[in-house]
Amino acid sequence: MSCIFCDIADKKIRSDIVYEDEQIVAFRDVNPQAPTHILVIPRKHISTINDIQEQDVGLIGRLIFVAKEIAYKEGCAANGYRLVMNCNNDGGQTVYHVHLHLLCGRWMTWPPG
Ligand code: 5GP
Ligand code: ZN
Repeated sequence: MSCIFCDIADKKIRSDIVYEDEQIVAFRDVNPQAPTHILVIPRKHISTINDIQEQDVGLIGRLIFVAKEIAYKEGCAANGYRLVMNCNNDGGQTVYHVHLHLLCGRWMTWPPG
């Protein structure tokens, strides 16, 4: 089974990686929706939020922690930012490897579209 985000994490596909460790990789979105738009993903392939198991709870929590660290590094922490994780078709998910969007650098509207 091929997965574009597994390939990005394995560096088989080029991307602008801003953070990586043994468990997590973060890279700039190819089609940014804000001045800063970064995707934070687990190296482990989990297709959707629906597939998260109890053993993944620490890993998924770490996605948020890493996103927060990147928000500081990008200078977004004080003004604020939005973290988004889409699930399946109605949620707007297009890549089926869970990823946390970090969006910042502009005011985010609410409710989202
Ligand atoms: P989703 O719609 O699944 O929540 O988000 C998928 C995101 O992945 C989109 O914002 C899209 O622009 C981004 N994306 C899709 N393919 C690539 C790629 O090959 N490289 C990068 N850097 N981002 C991608
Ligand atoms: Zn994958």
